[in-house]
Amino acid sequence: MIRVTIWNEFTHDQPAYEGGIHGYLKSVLDTEEDMVVKTATLRTEPMTDALLNETDVLFWWGHASHHEVPDELVEKIHDRVLRGMGLIVLHSGHHSKIFRKLVGTSGNLSWMDGAKERLWCVRPSHPIAAGVAPSIELPCEEMYGEPFDIPQPDDLIYVGWFNSGHVFRSGITYHRGHGKIFYFQPGHETDAAYKNPEVQKIIKNAVRWTAPTNMIDALSCPNVSSLEG
Ligand code: ZN
Repeated sequence: MIRVTIWNEFTHDQPAYEGGIHGYLKSVLDTEEDMVVKTATLRTEPMTDALLNETDVLFWWGHASHHEVPDELVEKIHDRVLRGMGLIVLHSGHHSKIFRKLVGTSGNLSWMDGAKERLWCVRPSHPIAAGVAPSIELPCEEMYGEPFDIPQPDDLIYVGWFNSGHVFRSGITYHRGHGKIFYFQPGHETDAAYKNPEVQKIIKNAVRWTAPTNMIDALSCPNVSSLEG
């Protein structure tokens, strides 16, 4: 079983998702027989060490309260990603402490309110795109545009085109240490991207792709003796 934890800052209204984005995504993933899903939030369901230590794949949705996330928690998540935990950073999580720390850049982008988005798959052979339509139309989504201040991704799987004329690297992956990371752009709180069945397939595929095959117990840098003579 893949142990999934969905973290959502949940400090302002998320009108497209009754019960919050974490509650909605949990209901989507609860139907999968190979996943056990829990949730955590910034203020009402704080992430505990016990929950983090039993997480194989962590979702991260944050927007207005990135600065309230304790640095100590960011350090613990960072360590667990380096030891193999999967991390799926959604939408405005591009400015989260954990995403910036893992990729090493600002995560800045350009943005504007609602536009129609067409999400194009540019790497259909990637496991995250398996069984997903070649393009997905999202009638209304917050526009995120290039330049996106990130290091070169390991894989560019989705490019978002907006009817405002902008484009964006909307689905990208990184490896950091032993962990796999997927950043996925859709998910503004007033729109309903996560209710799109094709988007849900991407999210489920991303859980299975980022899930660790085996976690490393501890990162170490040992001074060793010669094994020869
Ligand atoms: Zn947004």
